[in-house]
Amino acid sequence: MNLFGFEFDEVKFCGCNWEVTQLFVLADSKREARKLLRSGDAGLCGSCMCELLVDEEYEIEISKKRREEWKRLVEKVNRKGRKE
Ligand SMILES: [Zn+2]
Repeated sequence: MNLFGFEFDEVKFCGCNWEVTQLFVLADSKREARKLLRSGDAGLCGSCMCELLVDEEYEIEISKKRREEWKRLVEKVNRKGRKE
C-alpha cells in the first residue's frame, strides 16, 4: 500500500472539518486512490492521515538510497544534540 497526496484549487473538507487544499489517500495505486477519493470513501488531511498512521501502527518502507540519506540526517541531528 502507498500513500498518495492530491492537491486541489478549491477548498475541501476533511472528516475533522478542517478546510484543506490537499488530501491524502492510502491505496495500492494512484488510480485506486483517485477512485476512492472521487467516491468519497477516502481522503484525509495531513494531520488526520498522520494520526491514522500512528494509531494503526503502519510501518514505513523506504528504499536503500533513502535509508542512507535518513541515517545521515539522524546522525547529523544527534551530533547537534550533543553539542547543546
Ligand atoms: Zn482531518
